[in-house]
Amino acid sequence: MSTDLKNRAASVMPGGVNSPVRAFNSVGGDPIFARRGNGAYLETEDGRTLLDFCMSFGPLILGHAHPAVVEAVQRAAEAGTSYAVTTATEIQLAETICGAFPGMERVRLVSSGTEACMTAIRLARGATGRDKILKFSGCYHGHADSLLVKAGSGVAGIASASSAGVPESCAGQTLVARYNQVEDVEAMIREHGDDLAAVILEPFAGNMGLVAPRDGFLQSTAELARSCGALVIFDEVITGFRLVFGGYQRLCGIRPDLTTLGKIIGGGMPIGAIGGRADLMEHLAPNGEVYQAGTLSGNPISVAAGLASLQRLKDHDPYPDLDRQTGLLIQNIQSSAASLGIPVQTPRAGSMFSIFFSESPVHDFDEASATNTDRFPGFFRSLLAQNVYLPPSAFETSFLSTAHGDREISRASDAFDAALRKLGS
Ligand code: PMP
Repeated sequence: MSTDLKNRAASVMPGGVNSPVRAFNSVGGDPIFARRGNGAYLETEDGRTLLDFCMSFGPLILGHAHPAVVEAVQRAAEAGTSYAVTTATEIQLAETICGAFPGMERVRLVSSGTEACMTAIRLARGATGRDKILKFSGCYHGHADSLLVKAGSGVAGIASASSAGVPESCAGQTLVARYNQVEDVEAMIREHGDDLAAVILEPFAGNMGLVAPRDGFLQSTAELARSCGALVIFDEVITGFRLVFGGYQRLCGIRPDLTTLGKIIGGGMPIGAIGGRADLMEHLAPNGEVYQAGTLSGNPISVAAGLASLQRLKDHDPYPDLDRQTGLLIQNIQSSAASLGIPVQTPRAGSMFSIFFSESPVHDFDEASATNTDRFPGFFRSLLAQNVYLPPSAFETSFLSTAHGDREISRASDAFDAALRKLGS
């Protein structure tokens, strides 16, 4: 069945997928084909039921097909799938998001995290009249041209394109610093501060595995950015509503100028958002001179699914339970690894975690890349053979949902133990 689907997919879609990581290139083996999802489980087209720790890369904090979300989607669809004029529910979602982020006075809904970050960058450039932006290697902000870059070899931080098709003239407007290295930020601001429109970062990095900000890193970075008149953009596409009702900015006590969101705010439907102070956000069209638009922006089905999810999160405050369950799983993984003498790092924040095969903690992309990533494909496949599904890359973060209960934690702990045992042997 899946071989047939794989062949059919490859003959009509590049690489057989609509997003590269789904091809399983970095873990090997055949990609899976989803048929349906239910709670913590993903059923494949060949009839397997996988315990899911990918959870669509983060949006599904309530699990697959949560009844409240499904009902909201059904109700919305019955009333029409798109109007391209503003709706009362859209306003309600915007009010809910602004209410959860102190200092966020305006929010614009878009259709993906990529679009949110692309718009935030354009807005920062338009509002400051400057062209350069600074990002951190290992932080991912979607696939807009100026963000698809890697650290260049030449002059002080100037990036080079990390994808074919990105003009070097565009990549050259981006500076790349190492995450958690304030001295990099200082050096780049010394050199380019007058041209810098914004510093963009994941305040808790989730795209090089999970990497926590060091004490003072976010604060110092924000102060340095502001000292030269650059804006601070927190990309909370992953962390938004994942750790608390609101963003990581609530936990770290830093108020960025702009915030980008996605994933959870759409309850699994396509969505993104940019929010911030009114004086900045009003630079966007139609009031301002920075153009941004979208036929499906604020789509009624995405908005209904997002609102249902956020309401549920607000009413039930699942965060302490999510934290406890994930803590338990990580404890079990650590004790299995310790008893087998396999060095692992298991960074965790609330219901997000990742696994590095390494003796020492990871603080940036260079350190993440220097871990024993060769071990991951075998580990991943061994878990999959036991019907436990991790995100198919050593650098992705795993997620739990409210549907991951005691039974799931116990099953997963056994599977991780067996997978580690296999690695060790
Ligand atoms: N920012 C971050 C932090 C992300 O993790 C992602 C996607 N994983 C994006 C932006 C891009 O979002 P999307 O895939 O919805 O375009």
